[in-house]
Amino acid sequence: MPHAHPAPAGPAWSEAGRRAVRDQARSTPEWEPWLGLLEIALTAAVQEVWQEIDVCLADVRPVGAPVLDGARITVPGSATDALVAALLRSASRANADAGSVPRAGDPAERLPGDSLTIVSAAIRQDRVALNHIAGVAGVEEGVLAAVAHFASLPLLLEAGRSAAARVPGDWRAGYCPVCAAWPTLVELRGLERRRVLRCGRCAAGWERDVLHCVFCGERDHRQQGTLVPEEGGELVRLETCRSCSGYLKSVTTLRPGPVWALPLEDLRTLELELTALDRGFQRPDQPAWPLDLALSSAPTPAARSPHGRTAPAS
Ligand SMILES: [Zn+2]
Ligand SMILES: [Zn+2]
Repeated sequence: MPHAHPAPAGPAWSEAGRRAVRDQARSTPEWEPWLGLLEIALTAAVQEVWQEIDVCLADVRPVGAPVLDGARITVPGSATDALVAALLRSASRANADAGSVPRAGDPAERLPGDSLTIVSAAIRQDRVALNHIAGVAGVEEGVLAAVAHFASLPLLLEAGRSAAARVPGDWRAGYCPVCAAWPTLVELRGLERRRVLRCGRCAAGWERDVLHCVFCGERDHRQQGTLVPEEGGELVRLETCRSCSGYLKSVTTLRPGPVWALPLEDLRTLELELTALDRGFQRPDQPAWPLDLALSSAPTPAARSPHGRTAPAS
């Protein structure tokens, strides 16, 4: 029976994570700005303030809905304000260094609305809303998309932890049972090579025991293929599907990858992914599920939600 393993593997950030990010920046210096954002987000994720978020899950959800669908989440004070501002300043500096002409002034002060709007749009994968905010603030759409993604990580990791106990044990969908993202990769775990899909946002893991496309459900093995790197052996490969032109990274591993390693995996296999794109494969550009989510901020770190209860702890 497939079953979910929603609890994230280890802390979101650690000294080992910091070393891995620095090593990656040395081997792919062109990705240093992106890695800088990752480091800011994961450093924030282990701060105490994020453990104070209050996740009120919906009692009833539609069939196929991830756990956070219908959730009401209260975030303490200005936690997201500080994080969005730090990320945006870092990304704008890097963009200016790369030759873009920045608009005068602090980009963080030009953002319309509050930072929760940006975090909410990122979690709901609402690209239209993010592009609108980018236009108003005079920030490049790609820059704001990256900032929004990283700004949502601490909340998603904490919400994922508190929602873990509510993930159905028989979750069958290809998308994340917690936050609706498509999986970042599939781990082929241990000697028995159990297939565990991992979410690169909330770090959830969920098992699939049959080899069928996570994106379109194709089961015909003649429609499925693999791309392996020219060098680097069999540990990393891309699984491709001719029916929907999707591809998914697979990583052979003995144990669950730590939370911080999931985003790094994307950089380690860039060349292989470029080959996939050249051959017409791509990742879905639409979210798998239209997540209904309400975020609000509480005035103090110890604030409780108006619902007066929290999700069961994992
Ligand atoms: Zn997720
Ligand atoms: Zn497919």
